[in-house]
Amino acid sequence: MDEREALRKRVEEKRDLVIDLQRDLTAVPALAPQNGGTGEAEKAQVLVRWITRLGLGTCESLPAADSRVPGGERPNLLLTLPGRVSDRSFWIMSHMDIVPPGELSLWESDPYKLVVKGDRLIGRGVEDNQQGLVSSVVAALCVKEAGLVPPRSVKLLFVADEETGSEFGIQALVKRPGLFRPRDEALVPDGGSEDGSQIEIAEKSILWLRFRVRGKQCHASTPQKGINAFEAGSHLVVRLGVLAEHYASQDLLFDPPRSTFTPTKKEANVPNINTLPGEDIFHLDCRVLPREDLDAVMAEIRSICDGVQGDFGVGVDIQQVQRASSPPTPADAPIVSALSRAVKDVYDVQAKTVGIGGGTVGAFLRKMGIPTVVWGKIGEAAHQPNEFCLLPNLLGDAVVMARLMLGEG
Ligand SMILES: [Zn+2]
Repeated sequence: MDEREALRKRVEEKRDLVIDLQRDLTAVPALAPQNGGTGEAEKAQVLVRWITRLGLGTCESLPAADSRVPGGERPNLLLTLPGRVSDRSFWIMSHMDIVPPGELSLWESDPYKLVVKGDRLIGRGVEDNQQGLVSSVVAALCVKEAGLVPPRSVKLLFVADEETGSEFGIQALVKRPGLFRPRDEALVPDGGSEDGSQIEIAEKSILWLRFRVRGKQCHASTPQKGINAFEAGSHLVVRLGVLAEHYASQDLLFDPPRSTFTPTKKEANVPNINTLPGEDIFHLDCRVLPREDLDAVMAEIRSICDGVQGDFGVGVDIQQVQRASSPPTPADAPIVSALSRAVKDVYDVQAKTVGIGGGTVGAFLRKMGIPTVVWGKIGEAAHQPNEFCLLPNLLGDAVVMARLMLGEG
């Protein structure tokens, strides 16, 4: 039996271990304080106990202070598998937190009690992100058991706070000097597709804007005495439509392949019909191709607002609620080709690179210059009632990860 086949077999023998580990992790709800929870500390303890029991070594603790949770910190854990060289690392980053179960009546079982139905594991968190997390642990275990030494350090990172903004997770970690290095590469197993073919290498830039249009309130029977902020705001939202024409360039990596500028949330203005509104607030969700300059986009938006100010006599304030951009991982980066080869071999599908609308933790690593891929063979059941994970996917992903750890495609 060749080495690859031996590795695959070794991973497949971990089926019972996977079920037990998934059961223990599912039993500890790791909800952020914003979601009415106490954070990830208890789940982190369960994971540390497992890693110790499996003989994988000691997890380094990289907590982020958060006074809202018992103990005052959110846990981030780092497990290192030493490689032949230590000056560069291959990272696999998964997150420990989960989203709430939602409407309990939609669940066929207790979300925090693992149900096993054939190859299907059911429970809150089993896919998002325990599938990727457990796959990475199984991969590291099998590499270690086989007595193989990875060419570079392998670092399994288990982070907090992915579902609610990452302030106490990866955002706190990228501020630690020397933790990530430019020659590192990373896999984030927290996205993907049902056949495992999609390798996400890029994200659109995100710009969330809040527009506050200031006019002058008065009685609606004498509109000449006021300045109607709602009317001016409505003209503004229509004029912003020109952005899609000015930023019409296409990149087929993305679906849709162009930048989008979508008016979304509208705040209530006056509660009654006979008052002319003196203030109007709405939001724009912009997803901009990475090649575009966000400052130029902002300058154009400002000038559109200036036009409405001049024409209607209102004031327009723009607040940037969120602004994030990251350089794409090159489609020919070694991590992309290695992953494509492993996916072809393990799942017999031709991998393809894709970009998405934005908002994964991969962006924080790409911003540091680390080639990062977001990938997994997943059922796309994240955040749903009766969330599930298929064992063959979890085990297959572990084989792919082990191959990447060993520097093979
Ligand atoms: Zn996730």
